[in-house]
Amino acid sequence: MTSGIARGRLALRIRRPSRPRRTPAAPEGHRAPSARLLAALAAALILGVACAEPPAERPNVVIVTIDSLRADHLDHLGYERPTATDLDPLRDRSTLFARALAPTPSTAPSTASLLTGRFPLRHGVLTPDGAIADDVATLAEVLRESGWSTAAVSHHPVLTRQRGFARGFERFEGAIGPATRYADADQMVAWMREWLAEARRPFFLYLHVMNVHGPYRVPTLRRQDLLGHLPGTQFSYGDALMRGIMEDGAVGLRGLVKARYLGSLVDQYDTAVRYATGRVAKVLDLLRIDGSFDESIVVLTADHGEELFDHGGFGHGHTLYREVLHVPLYVKTPGQQTGRTVDTAVSLMDVFPTILELLSLPAPDVDGRSLVPALRGESDAGGARVFHHVTAWEEASLARGVLDGRYKLIDALRSYDAADRRRLLFDLVVDPGETRDLSGTGSEIVERLSGQLDDAFGDGGIRPRGAEDAAS
Ligand SMILES: [Zn+2]
Repeated sequence: MTSGIARGRLALRIRRPSRPRRTPAAPEGHRAPSARLLAALAAALILGVACAEPPAERPNVVIVTIDSLRADHLDHLGYERPTATDLDPLRDRSTLFARALAPTPSTAPSTASLLTGRFPLRHGVLTPDGAIADDVATLAEVLRESGWSTAAVSHHPVLTRQRGFARGFERFEGAIGPATRYADADQMVAWMREWLAEARRPFFLYLHVMNVHGPYRVPTLRRQDLLGHLPGTQFSYGDALMRGIMEDGAVGLRGLVKARYLGSLVDQYDTAVRYATGRVAKVLDLLRIDGSFDESIVVLTADHGEELFDHGGFGHGHTLYREVLHVPLYVKTPGQQTGRTVDTAVSLMDVFPTILELLSLPAPDVDGRSLVPALRGESDAGGARVFHHVTAWEEASLARGVLDGRYKLIDALRSYDAADRRRLLFDLVVDPGETRDLSGTGSEIVERLSGQLDDAFGDGGIRPRGAEDAAS
């Protein structure tokens, strides 16, 4: 059954006061935290001393994001191929959230939600040139202010200094060029080996791995690791047929996607998953060799998933179906010796407050909720959750959605597959693949969930920061 979360309560939870106007972006490398932010952090830290036990230890924090990694292609979550077998040691010593969701299916806004704990509409990274707002605290800023050394390596070129992703990191290794020409994860492993030898403890390390992002690039010598043979090449990421479907939503082209071609694409994707998880395992091995692994907080997740023609599309950033929102989320706490799985629906936004609670640090103003009760094995891990997804990254695609218990509603204001505004209702208990739209027969549920969306995104709810600025 549904959660029964009252609309008023939902609106109350996410309604925020208006915020000051954003200041213009500072030049690259000179984006200092605002005085307002520093004051907020100082106040939060003072408050933390007063109301929370100081942490007995100050563990390292490591977050690894594998870009475009959909949860249902991991054997740890039931996939038939051994795509994540190198991560078995992590699974056996971490909590695996089996129903983790990205708030949006695009890299920059979703990663910003991971690193700020906020809805995309409330951190400022919503449009291609959007930046994390000056008065929004990032995890790196909070930890740096609290004494952690901070470093990040991102192989995705949209995660830039100009957009605020370097804020709080003493060392930030970004990427340039198109997202499809990324550096190999092995470079990250090599960087990690050198950095770890010199890193001041405790540290916060953020890594953003790209090999599962199209074109699913894997070094030649590793391309047979999963299948025992090379994946087929009948269909390649970004070829003319795929571009036609991705770029203009040419529905008529979908009939040309033959099963044989599609199978080769899935083979390439899965081969990349096996490779990327293997590289992340190498990173974790370095932590073990260093002696840091046991007492570190380790989080492994993805910023979004990937469409593999599940609903007639490819890539990500276009829709709000589960293949682009359902992501893996492993959380290893200091000293954790056993693995477990939690089935409660959670959000990437929850990572930020979870880490701060584990460190006995207070979280700034966030939309996420701490997962520490779930990590402790308490059954009251939040129960049913309400999630909101919005993608306005591309002009052709604008949608919002809500997951409430077993039901999920997608409200597509504009859809890239050329449909007019439409609402889709799915019962995830009987239809986890979101293939049967029940909006025609479930009108009462549609209206209830639509009301939740209106509360969330309408007047008094979460709004684009620009709208807040205009109102303030
Ligand atoms: Zn991404």
